[in-house]
Amino acid sequence: MSQVTQPESIHTRLATNRKNRRFRKADKLADVHYEIRGPVMQRARRLEQEGHRVLKLNIGNTAPFGFEPPETVLRAVIHELPRSLGYEDSKGIYTARSAIVHECQRQHVRNVDVEHVYLGNGVSELIMMVTQALLNHDDELLIPAPDYPLWTAATLTAGGTPVHYRCDEQADWYPDLEDIKAKTTKRTKGIVVINPNNPTGAVYNQQVLRDISVWARKSGLVVLADEIYSKILYDDAKFYAMGSIDEDVFTISFNGLSKAYHAPGFRVGWMVLSGAIGRATSFISGLDILASMRLCPNVPMQHAVQTALGGYQTIQDYTRPGGLLYEQRNTAHENLTSIPGISCFKPKGSIFLFPKIDVQKYKITDDEKFVLHLLNDRKILVVQGTGFNYPEPDHFRVVFLSKSAELVCASESIRSFLATYRQS
Ligand code: PLP
Repeated sequence: MSQVTQPESIHTRLATNRKNRRFRKADKLADVHYEIRGPVMQRARRLEQEGHRVLKLNIGNTAPFGFEPPETVLRAVIHELPRSLGYEDSKGIYTARSAIVHECQRQHVRNVDVEHVYLGNGVSELIMMVTQALLNHDDELLIPAPDYPLWTAATLTAGGTPVHYRCDEQADWYPDLEDIKAKTTKRTKGIVVINPNNPTGAVYNQQVLRDISVWARKSGLVVLADEIYSKILYDDAKFYAMGSIDEDVFTISFNGLSKAYHAPGFRVGWMVLSGAIGRATSFISGLDILASMRLCPNVPMQHAVQTALGGYQTIQDYTRPGGLLYEQRNTAHENLTSIPGISCFKPKGSIFLFPKIDVQKYKITDDEKFVLHLLNDRKILVVQGTGFNYPEPDHFRVVFLSKSAELVCASESIRSFLATYRQS
């Protein structure tokens, strides 16, 4: 009798094929990058594991450089800790949201209500939420170049298309309005404005904000104002809140405890919707769904907000002449710009310098390689300009949180490194 072989069942075949299945990242992440914690930083980690000391001028993390939140802020959190065990309102606790409304009133932000304030686990989470709630597939978002790269990454993750507008180094790094106009299309949903700016240190005057606002009104754009450095200002720089400019423009402003209150590890940020709220009802319902889906932001740390905003503003002691950040900015700027082939706008705000490097002189074509070579040779970690979606490989970002003496040493080390460095 002949044997009849049973056809292999579909389940068996599937099981065989899947046994060695590889798990690949989702296609939507293909173009998503975050170079501040990218391959160069991983190389720095390996160097540290091998016993090297790496000077980290790459990230705005205040704690390792000895900056601490005011003691009253820590006490507020500790005091409320035993009562912070449960989930709370998905937008954030009331006392924090109400303190944020008062802060907005001090900044003349128009049409703010406690219902339109959302807290998040850092501004980072809120940027992810807003881009998810706002963007349909292929919707465009105008983002500055250079940018804080989370904006570009979040836009891509949400399925949208980042369109970078130029900020002009020759004009104090102000946004180029003509470029913004040229790049606005039918698909443009909004414009991101980072003021004071990471990575350039620019602080925009009122006219710049008005010009952007007029264009946003004309073109029906929501303005996404990332203002996390609003209190880190030097010399005579003055901060104007985007939400104070035009009540007919729907504006979402972002701020938090990470920078001015030296508590990035608390992961407390907030966003405030202001202006033409009436035109955003549907979008707001989307935001509310996303806020509910995460249940609520970290509860204990939200208790820091009221005390931080209402208490003594220690940041002003750091940014005034003689203050640590003021002096460190001056030292870093003076020493870096004395290196042949390096020029740099002197920051008016934030904690960053964005020096330009003469790429012809040093034959640099790949800025990631440049920062990697600097790291390997001098154990100094900075971030390449293209990591901030800047189109040319001729800038790098330096954080000036380190003590002045270290910044002098780092500059000298970069000077002697460049004396013989030719990339090609
Ligand atoms: N926006 C800008 C411009 C930043 O520089 C940073 C952090 O460096 C963030 C947002 C993220 O802030 P958070 O710590 O609140 O997530």
